[in-house]
Amino acid sequence: MGYLINLNGKYVQKEKAVISVFDHGLLYGDGVFEGIRSYNGRVFKLEEHVDRLFASAKAITMTIPISRDKMKAEIVATVKKNKLRDAYIRVVVTRGVGDLGLNPTKCPKAFYFIIAASISLYPEKYYKEGLPVVCASTRRNIPEALSPMIKSLNYLNNILAKLEANSANVLEAIMLNREGFVAECTGDNIFIVRNGELITPPTYIGALEGITRDAVIKLGRELGYKVSEKPFTMVDMYIADEAFLTGTAAEIIPVINVDKRNIANGKPGPITKKLIEAYREITRNQGTEVYPK
Ligand code: PMP
Repeated sequence: MGYLINLNGKYVQKEKAVISVFDHGLLYGDGVFEGIRSYNGRVFKLEEHVDRLFASAKAITMTIPISRDKMKAEIVATVKKNKLRDAYIRVVVTRGVGDLGLNPTKCPKAFYFIIAASISLYPEKYYKEGLPVVCASTRRNIPEALSPMIKSLNYLNNILAKLEANSANVLEAIMLNREGFVAECTGDNIFIVRNGELITPPTYIGALEGITRDAVIKLGRELGYKVSEKPFTMVDMYIADEAFLTGTAAEIIPVINVDKRNIANGKPGPITKKLIEAYREITRNQGTEVYPK
């Protein structure tokens, strides 16, 4: 595939894009990241992703070595350099090279890299037919220990839940918070629909402040639905009229079966279908131009 990776502002071939074994991003998961998409030559929600990246870095007192404007420009330039129109973009900022101790003050400079790759999506069949999921026994990190609002390189918690999804032969798993409320999935936020109301867990429950989640909250309200951020349990999931996941890679994907129980009639619901259409319309019409005329 021969991607050119932006490694701290310099383009290098994929095979040569390597980082130090003393980088604390690798040694301790000390770093932050973003997953972004471009649609037909336009980077979607660039401002929001870069804002979240800088917010996550701030929360862990890590100084990103370039400005926000420069970061936006570098992201766009990396897509352009790879001549991509529809891309999945990964931006990673690590604490940088230090010694073997975990003290981050021993890392003088944060390190960043940007990968722009062609995108691999959930097969279209899941958008039409919906996704079965299970509830994982692995709980989401408690916010008092590591807030899921920080998009950090520590994904082991989610990976453990993903292994449970693999064992159950499904593509996603629902994660509960310590108290047993639904938090989110391993790489997606979650919504249910009940009596025409869209409900998603509040982020304080222990969920990432997803950019797609935010877009869907706004979209739902624009379409005239009541949208609430309130805690709910697995029983609320089981008896929901509809359910769906949101994420940059997944967009909006219907959930039609949870823990071997069909959601309603086991088919994607009408509100979910409407949101999928409306969201696709937004992705077609918004974004930062990679190839301005
Ligand atoms: N939750 C988790 C744990 C995630 O990793 C992601 C996507 N990276 C999301 C939710 C969805 O967030 P977004 O809509 O910003 O991609």
